[in-house]
Amino acid sequence: MARPPGVVLTGGIGSGKSTVARIFSRFGACVIDTDEISHFLTGKNGAALSRIAENFGAEFILDDSLDRTRMRQRVFSDPESKKRLESILHPMIREEVERRIEKCDSPYYLLVVPLFFETGHYFDLADRVLVVDCGEEKQVERVAARSGLSADMIHAIMGNQVSRTCRLDHADDILENGGEMDELEKAAYRLHCQYLDLINRS
Ligand code: ADP
Repeated sequence: MARPPGVVLTGGIGSGKSTVARIFSRFGACVIDTDEISHFLTGKNGAALSRIAENFGAEFILDDSLDRTRMRQRVFSDPESKKRLESILHPMIREEVERRIEKCDSPYYLLVVPLFFETGHYFDLADRVLVVDCGEEKQVERVAARSGLSADMIHAIMGNQVSRTCRLDHADDILENGGEMDELEKAAYRLHCQYLDLINRS
């Protein structure tokens, strides 16, 4: 069966992806978030736990969920483990994304892929690429307020993501999120209407 049209939403850490996803969900778009799926697969009794235990050992499972702190430490210090974990999770996330697209009952879906440009995953499911963007100082300020991470740590994470310029150069649509929430909501609504227009005209 043909899939509905899809918009991939991406952006740097703290740029506002989750916030934008919530807004589009209120407009009735079917929102599929790859990070949320990853948490679902590794959360309480998640479908990925048995394979993680087989590969990494039962000590990585705590209270029927992935011991995220232990796994974070492992993949931070060992790139091979990071690859191994990704090779377990990525195909499972992809399958779940496809299942959710099949069930999508809105005119288009919004697929949230934080590392879209970095990984090259999901290009085939993106009819348009929407980048949410704000200045780097704003990113650091918002992530620090949300997580308590130090500015150095946040800069290190940002350093592992593609540059802001690269992201903006490859966007079909950009939501500027350096200002107030009501401005973001209005801009998102305009974009949602444009997407519906595009679909109606095609
Ligand atoms: P991402 O998902 O890209 O990491 P979030 O959507 O979680 O980013 O936003 C990062 C933080 O900034 C969150 O705490 C969010 O509530 C806040 N935030 C996002 N956009 C705005 C805005 N326009 N005004 C104020 N706070 C915002």
